[in-house]
Amino acid sequence: MENKKALIVGSGIAGIASAIRMAVKGYAVSVYEANAYPGGKLTVMELDGYRFDAGPSLFTMPHFVEELFRLSGKDPETYFQYAKMPVACHYFFEDGTFLRYFSDRKSLLNEVKAKLNVDPSKLDQHLNRSELIFKASHKAFLERSLHKISSHLTIDTLNCIAHIPWLNLFTTMHKANLKGLNHPKLVQIFDRYATYNGSNPYKAPGILNIIPHLESGIGTYFPRKGMHSITKSLVQLAEELGVTFHYNSRVDEIIEHEKKISGIAVNGQLIPGDVVICNSDVKPAYRYLLKHTKAPKRTLEQEPSSSAMIFYWGIRKEFPQLDLHNIFFTEDYEEEFRMMFEERTVSDDPTVYVHISSKVVRSDAPDGCENWFVMVNVPSNSGQDWDALRLKIRQNVIQKLNRILKIDLESLIETEDFLDPVRIEKRTSSYAGALYGSSSNDRMAAFFRHPNFSKTKGLYFVGGSVHPGGGIPLCLLSAKIATDLVP
Ligand SMILES: Cc1cc2nc3c(=O)[nH]c(=O)nc-3n(C[C@H](O)[C@H](O)[C@H](O)COP(=O)(O)OP(=O)(O)OC[C@H]3O[C@@H](n4cnc5c(N)ncnc54)[C@H](O)[C@@H]3O)c2cc1C
Repeated sequence: MENKKALIVGSGIAGIASAIRMAVKGYAVSVYEANAYPGGKLTVMELDGYRFDAGPSLFTMPHFVEELFRLSGKDPETYFQYAKMPVACHYFFEDGTFLRYFSDRKSLLNEVKAKLNVDPSKLDQHLNRSELIFKASHKAFLERSLHKISSHLTIDTLNCIAHIPWLNLFTTMHKANLKGLNHPKLVQIFDRYATYNGSNPYKAPGILNIIPHLESGIGTYFPRKGMHSITKSLVQLAEELGVTFHYNSRVDEIIEHEKKISGIAVNGQLIPGDVVICNSDVKPAYRYLLKHTKAPKRTLEQEPSSSAMIFYWGIRKEFPQLDLHNIFFTEDYEEEFRMMFEERTVSDDPTVYVHISSKVVRSDAPDGCENWFVMVNVPSNSGQDWDALRLKIRQNVIQKLNRILKIDLESLIETEDFLDPVRIEKRTSSYAGALYGSSSNDRMAAFFRHPNFSKTKGLYFVGGSVHPGGGIPLCLLSAKIATDLVP
């Protein structure tokens, strides 16, 4: 008997992971990707001798990548290598304070005591609380479909309910941080974790204080060959399992008949299938691919997450004071988020993230040089004049980095390119260029996300727009949740 056919729409990281899982289940799997390359946001660019990971740079929970190799009976190390980073981030403040956020708890507490002159035991307790939120909620909240009754009839959910008083459900991240930490700079560092899923810490529920534990407790990692090696190694694995990738193949329609999937339409061709897994952002999926299906209004009306303005700069100098991840904070964080989510523009003093993969992958930049990925959080696209905004942000970023690092940055940039919300949308079909689907600026946001399944039999959804967390690990989890539901 012929294998059942699974068709995957899109080869983002969740699409690739779904393809692997469906192949392991015994399906004949084909992936249809609009671009000429796989990976979606997790892609790469080369520029005059510099290599840049184009999108994600922060890598947590590597076991979700490894799990895919083990599931397929392969040794992950043969395909994909990574290392734990001793320092999660270098933090720079306008008043000259410089703080290394060590992965090791004792070193971090010592650093905070030395640099901020406070009793670090409050930070210690705050990190313990983050671990408690993780332990109480991750199984019930992150690893199962929130939209299946069966998910809620488990010991994990009971455990989660028993811990409700500690989950910060009825306060914001910022208020929980203010209460738990004893220095404004620590509050700012912990508020920043809201940006890990494109949200506003002054609005997002305090349960998002689960995120610091992912970084501090479980750790920050980096692939030995850069972030793009996650895409490359998983595509290699999928191909070895017999998955076929079709590039330059935009899916025009997901076809259903009598509430059951019958296939997809690609480049004027009808391709029959038993299961369709949609890795396209859920909003364009309903707008363009499922034209005859009633769209779930509430889900689709949710506020998009933030987007990003990124400058890829080849820098002809090395900076020993910088690390793999560096943050240069604004002096007014609340105003930065107000401008982003309410005015839908960018503060003149934005927080700047500088990621330098050549600190770990030496070959990513020529000798004596560094590849700077410089990112500012910006609103999703609602028709702003992005060319004008880009020039303004570029100037403000350069002035800020000049001020704090005491350099003349413009003279060191030898090559450059950029990514903005319009390009993100064009290259990945992500609604309004949002990085993580919808924001979590509402206590109920996680529950309003689209489920991983549909009323149409055989249709499933995966990726950043259908998981409450967003980010690579949670996209990988969305693939697990969806494919576990496939009979
Ligand atoms: C600048 C930036 C920085 C980020 N930083 C981090 C970070 O540090 N850490 C982290 O964990 N996450 C980060 N993220 C988020 C992370 O990249 C995403 O959560 C994740 O990569 C999304 O994967 P996905 O599977 O949802 O799909 P996507 O990457 O969005 O890919 C979807 C794919 O589907 C294809 N597609 C869409 N529609 C169709 C169609 N009709 N037919 C065929 N193909 C279609 C698209 O072309 C695309 O290739 C960042 C994202 C960006 C853009």
